Amino acid sequence: MRNVVILGSGCAGNTAAIYTARANLEPLVIEGLEIGGQLSLTTEVENFPGFPEGIMGPELVENMKKQATRFGAEYKTGEVTKVDLSKRPFKLWTSEQEIETKTLIVATGASARWLGLESEKKLIGHGVSSCATCDGFFFRGKPVTVVGGGDSAMEEATFLTKFASEVTIVHRRDEFRASKIMLDRARANEKVKWVTGATVLDVSDVEKNEVTSLKLQDLKNGRTWDHKTDALFLAIGHIPNTKVFQGQLDLDQQGYIVSQGGARTNVLGVFHAGDVQDRVYRQAVTASGMGCMAAIEAERFLEAEGH
Ligand code: NAP
Repeated sequence: MRNVVILGSGCAGNTAAIYTARANLEPLVIEGLEIGGQLSLTTEVENFPGFPEGIMGPELVENMKKQATRFGAEYKTGEVTKVDLSKRPFKLWTSEQEIETKTLIVATGASARWLGLESEKKLIGHGVSSCATCDGFFFRGKPVTVVGGGDSAMEEATFLTKFASEVTIVHRRDEFRASKIMLDRARANEKVKWVTGATVLDVSDVEKNEVTSLKLQDLKNGRTWDHKTDALFLAIGHIPNTKVFQGQLDLDQQGYIVSQGGARTNVLGVFHAGDVQDRVYRQAVTASGMGCMAAIEAERFLEAEGH
């Protein structure tokens, strides 16, 4: 029987592990499929406080894990495939075992949606990014491209104009899903160029390990052409990793956990942390902050129950 099990090993899960380990709760972290979370897909992180020279994303998240392990957190690779949150202790199943726990911290994150191209995958962290806030700074004075037609695409494109020489928005339709205000803001920005009714077929240059151009296709007439750009930012949505909790935790229409305030979910003793609930900020530091909140709530919950 565990005091606390943490699902997910990104910033949120690792921070929850540090706090609960230091509270002598001997947490178990189930790492999930994307070990280290979204930071493991980035290169340099320059906005996590405490690293004036910046730090590589995978190193930052590995440091967090080491820190948690030092205080007694246990890590297990694997994924939880089934849960029973109907009564306590909660029951969790991985492919290898059944686990019982008094409290649960869900930090399973949200995965960025990608186009699914082989070249795109190979260049993630080398010019292909799903986070303008994280990586925009590296493309000062360079032309960049954003794919998507929602609020995220408009927000990221507008943000990127602060650095880039030019920002091209590539969207698959002529109509935009984005709200009028966000769309108008992007439209009013002279640095933003538009390619609509088009899709990305390929990203170059995998050989050079950097983005140099995109092969675009007009979806109406099939014409293809090369579009020179130094970066590709995907803003085509995120998918919260909550499938396993359907019918047990309150989820909104897109599948994000609905918070009951603080780090609380609708199930007493189950807490949320990070992007699995947060569709707004999605930063390493905010996920860590929420991991801390969830850990403190789990600790107080156990204390109130006479743990
Ligand atoms: P979204 O609204 O779901 O938009 C995703 C966009 O990506 C759509 O334009 C979609 O095209 C396109 N897309 C999806 N899959 C694609 C694919 N495989 N290839 C090419 N294009 C693809 O996602 P979001 O922009 O991340 O926004 C999510 C939510 O957060 C929304 O409710 C939004 O309002 C909110 N949000 C708010 C703010 C803000 O207010 N500051 C900022 C960001 C996000 P189609 O339109 O053709 O489907």
